[in-house]
Amino acid sequence: DLTMYHQKNIAPGKVGLYSEALYEKMRHDQQLREGLWQAIEKHQLSVMYQPIIDLRTNDLWAVEALARWQFEGEWVRPDEFIPLAEQSGAINAIGTWIMHRACIDAAQWEDKNIGVSINVSVLQLLNENFISQVDRALNSSGLSPERLHLEVTESIFADDTAVLTARINALKSRQIKVAIDDFGTGFSSLKLLQSLDFDLIKIDRSFVTKLTDCNDTIVKATLLMAKEFGCKTVAEGVETQEQASLLKTMGVDYLQGYLFARPLKKKDFDEWYTNWQKTK
Ligand code: C2E
Ligand code: MG
Ligand code: MG
Ligand code: MG
Repeated sequence: DLTMYHQKNIAPGKVGLYSEALYEKMRHDQQLREGLWQAIEKHQLSVMYQPIIDLRTNDLWAVEALARWQFEGEWVRPDEFIPLAEQSGAINAIGTWIMHRACIDAAQWEDKNIGVSINVSVLQLLNENFISQVDRALNSSGLSPERLHLEVTESIFADDTAVLTARINALKSRQIKVAIDDFGTGFSSLKLLQSLDFDLIKIDRSFVTKLTDCNDTIVKATLLMAKEFGCKTVAEGVETQEQASLLKTMGVDYLQGYLFARPLKKKDFDEWYTNWQKTK
């Protein structure tokens, strides 16, 4: 009972203040968790698109779909609301909505070569209806499956391996590409990495940010491993020309980051792309 918790802890002093803050945080999270159940019907969710560039050709290769939520006038970061949606169970409905939205948008782009990369929570992947939800998103949008990329984080390695292997194989048999997101920040089993046959490894922004001529061991090792496993690589969070040049020299396949574009609304993305084709 939160009210009880609150009243017991309003004694003055540091402990009281800390509890007050903690209570506020718990109350706020609870409001967000409840709000998330209505986010779809209240039209509070949207999707932005961030370009991913092919380093060899400078062509746009794909975009990453990134969820946005405006709740009671405030933008809530996905880093904050996705975990809350996972806790409440709303992630399945929300994830399905995002997938439909992103597939519909991508199917409407004039350029039919551009892929769309969607983040998928491990809880979605474990859901027994996940594959049929993906099929429905593809069928109703008309997007061809090779254009769909799904990003999962290394946290999937901690869960039910048999189910996850089956899900990933089902995706791969449909020609859907599967990526490991935030690579290097979590716990990955080399054995699983080998047996799961991922198409793509996304090198986490934290390694790109720290990258210099003499601090490149992690990126180098990741590239070596990706090559062995037959995976393409994307570097995330590329902000400077120096980083882009280093990554190019090192042999990364694709780049994503503010250097090229921030996540963009569908309409702004269309404009960005027209401009990119003229100036790239
Ligand atoms: P992520 O999948 O690793 O997405 C990349 C994040 O890095 C995005 O943050 C993007 O805006 C940000 N980013 C890209 N380039 C740069 C850069 O050059 N500099 C900096 N500082 N940041 C950059 P965002 O949109 O806030 O999303 C945060 C995380 O929330 C995502 O990390 C992903 O884990 C999760 N997320 C977002 N949308 C969804 C979704 O639809 N479903 C699920 N399950 N998770 C999502
Ligand atoms: Mg991602
Ligand atoms: Mg990432
Ligand atoms: Mg992330």
